[in-house]
Amino acid sequence: MSDAGDDRALWAELFDIAVPPAEAERETRRRGLFSRFKESLTKPRQAISPQLAGVFAPGLITRETWDELEEALIGADCGMDASLALVDALRDAAQQGRIVNRSEIAAGLANAVTLQMTPEPPRIPIGAKPTVILVVGVNGSGKTTTVGKLAHRLSELGQQVVIGAADTFRAAAIDQLAIWADRSGAQLVRQGPGADPGAVAFDAVVSGSARGADVVLIDTAGRLQTQHNLMEELRKVHAVVGKAAADAPHETLLVLDATTGQNGLSQARLFGEAVPLTGVIVTKLDGSAKGGIAVAINRELGLPVKLIGVGEKLEDLQPFDAAAYAQAIFASGDAG
Ligand code: GDP
Repeated sequence: MSDAGDDRALWAELFDIAVPPAEAERETRRRGLFSRFKESLTKPRQAISPQLAGVFAPGLITRETWDELEEALIGADCGMDASLALVDALRDAAQQGRIVNRSEIAAGLANAVTLQMTPEPPRIPIGAKPTVILVVGVNGSGKTTTVGKLAHRLSELGQQVVIGAADTFRAAAIDQLAIWADRSGAQLVRQGPGADPGAVAFDAVVSGSARGADVVLIDTAGRLQTQHNLMEELRKVHAVVGKAAADAPHETLLVLDATTGQNGLSQARLFGEAVPLTGVIVTKLDGSAKGGIAVAINRELGLPVKLIGVGEKLEDLQPFDAAAYAQAIFASGDAG
């Protein structure tokens, strides 16, 4: 299948609108994703590879090998908890004779990361009609472009999309969404700058229901006068959406900029206290020297990473695949 065809199949799988592929086909797609991830994740790989090269170098496994590995993982922002668990899993494998020399740690590490992050591909099922997806996160994290890219992907798959421009504090966000909506044939629900975000979100869901739309995507504000105000506003938007349609929102996705590292984790906790999150979209992994942040998010927040951003182009927002991600960043001490 062509790259574009593979891509479309991956998205259809993410949205649960395709028959799950046979294992062989999934493997082919995964290889395609892996080469793309490997190409765009050069920066995070280069950041960790000198240390991993030391760990994977030929030679006997010693206590220092595990210490070095732990340091490399913590340095890549995998988080203390996940790093210790990964080293423990590999040390156990070595004690049981499943890993004999240091070069075998490479494959073992990628496997352990995949298993820790759940190897099953994530889902954003769009069964409910309309399926309401709320997108939250701080300004600059990539929320608006993510909403635009999702609208595009859904439209490509024949889904009817309504976009609610509920970031009414930023006129630029509304204009940007108008362009995305235009390009993808989605309907945009907007009001003037400064309008009540809850009212826009409510209108978007009501309009989506009335038109028989498949998906309503709602962009939200990422900055208000104070953090308290922002979280209150999000709570309101979340509650109002629930009044507009039963069980809505079906997904509340937090967009996190990978380059903010551990700060991003604190942000995630705050958002998670305000509204129940169903998953995380990690953007800008391509520009981050801390490529392990997806591991930390998953482990410390108990939330699945559903999508990752590996660049600014449309095709650079990708359904997350733990194996392809783990291979691209952690499997080699080779910086290329
Ligand atoms: P918002 O304020 O959260 O809505 O953020 P925007 O959607 O306006 O995005 C902020 C900037 O981040 C834009 O220039 C995007 O092109 C850029 N961006 C978003 N995702 C990625 C990504 O995965 N990689 C890179 N390199 N840039 C991204």
